Amino acid sequence: MSRPAKMEINLDALRHNCARAKEYSPDSKLVAVIKANAYGHGAIEVAKALDERIDMLAVSSIEEALQLRTARISKPILLLEGCFYPDELEIAAINNFEVVFHNIEQINDFESAKLPNQIKAWLKVDTGMHRLGVKPEVAVECYKRLSNAAFAKDGVVLMTHMASADLLEEPYTQQQLTIFDELYHNISGMGFETIETSIGNSATIMGWQDAASSWIRPGIMLYGLSPFSDSELKDDLRPVMTLKSEVIALREVKVGDKVGYGSTWQAERPSLIATVALGYGDGYPRNTRSGAPVLINNQRAYLAGRVSMDMLSVDVTDILDVKIGDEVILWGENLSANEVADWADTIGYELVTRMPLRVPKHYID
Ligand SMILES: *Cc1c(COP(=O)(O)O)cnc(C)c1O
Repeated sequence: MSRPAKMEINLDALRHNCARAKEYSPDSKLVAVIKANAYGHGAIEVAKALDERIDMLAVSSIEEALQLRTARISKPILLLEGCFYPDELEIAAINNFEVVFHNIEQINDFESAKLPNQIKAWLKVDTGMHRLGVKPEVAVECYKRLSNAAFAKDGVVLMTHMASADLLEEPYTQQQLTIFDELYHNISGMGFETIETSIGNSATIMGWQDAASSWIRPGIMLYGLSPFSDSELKDDLRPVMTLKSEVIALREVKVGDKVGYGSTWQAERPSLIATVALGYGDGYPRNTRSGAPVLINNQRAYLAGRVSMDMLSVDVTDILDVKIGDEVILWGENLSANEVADWADTIGYELVTRMPLRVPKHYID
């Protein structure tokens, strides 16, 4: 027996979502973004489950990439932030990591490196996100330098990242795309053969289908969470992570009785309160407001009072037949992490990504 707090990771849902990404962009190759332990879902298991369906994996660091190699995952791996230090180039070359170059310093280091073999380079251009990437004005020059570097494989990929693709009414994405297109044409005009491009994160893939590029880079949609605030765009993504626990106590409270630390929730009617074995130590945000939905026996009940480290309380007055030992779903199937995230002033990305090791993952194939 063990504590009931756990995650179920549904690999079938993962593969379904991967197929959806391909349907949005059928002519593109697919880089599955599995940085940050696959957004909390387990990078090794996710990489293995997707292996035959994808072309490449992407992570944020050499450490994340090496963990995959140690687990005998042999797909090419893209380092999304490139090398933090020049000595990482050699590790990248040995391990078949492809490398993003987002600033001039990284390009200088690459030009002066002596490497055991060649690296496939991706040039990241800042078309408006203003986080990483070389300026469009110097991008042609950077593209030439990378292409001519002694240890560069043929065919530098031209990439960018969208700042507001989840806002479908905003003209900003189109402005970024225009800058990118112009650059693409300038570089093509210099006699390079077909230049591969990479634009789409999930929101771009789903919302901006004319932004198709050679390589799409879906992250959040693989895990079954829409990057759009609800109902803006219909999709049939399936949540991969379900966070579960059980009811471990039940009590009736009178009008005026208070529940939890700080006594922030007060009964306005005679109420039934269920105590659930899962708290902020298990990744459920402490700042979630009373009223957030919780599923018990597939019925919606509501968070009552502050979340404790190991427990939380739920007002189950309006749902039927609650007993100790009943299953509780905090998010997952039938209750999107995005919806819970609204009650904690954050986004589904953060909830799933910061799940602590304490909560065991059960993989369902
Ligand atoms: C994280 C990341 C992605 C994936 O973004 P989602 O919104 O999760 O689809 C794509 N590209 C880059 C450069 C990233 O850092």
